[in-house]
Amino acid sequence: MTVFAKIITGEIPADIVYENEFCIAFRDLVPQAPTHILVIPRKPIERLSAVEPADAQLLGQLLVAAKRVIALEGLCDARIVINDGSGAGQTVFHLHLHVLGGRPFDWPPG
Ligand code: AMP
Repeated sequence: MTVFAKIITGEIPADIVYENEFCIAFRDLVPQAPTHILVIPRKPIERLSAVEPADAQLLGQLLVAAKRVIALEGLCDARIVINDGSGAGQTVFHLHLHVLGGRPFDWPPG
């Protein structure tokens, strides 16, 4: 069971900023920007590569939730990141969107 699965069940605490029937958004424990929020599906999907065609609507819900979080945080601009696999920096194998804001972001990312 991942740490995010435990946040979903309430087994471990999180600073939840938004939730609905599809997903939960909470502040990252080690923020990489003044605003750093993770949006996760309630459904346990390991990573983006494990998504099935039937998850298409859920993926849309995650992006809509990210938009909601951006508005709630009052951000003008935001960076949305999905790390897919350990080589891309994924450390928790429960699909999640990073919503980052409050500072300038370089491109390409590191
Ligand atoms: P990733 O490296 O893309 O898998 O992102 C995992 C993120 O989860 C990292 O930014 C961690 O700081 C964050 N994280 C790990 N454990 C927790 C936790 N208990 N509460 C909030 N964020 C966490």
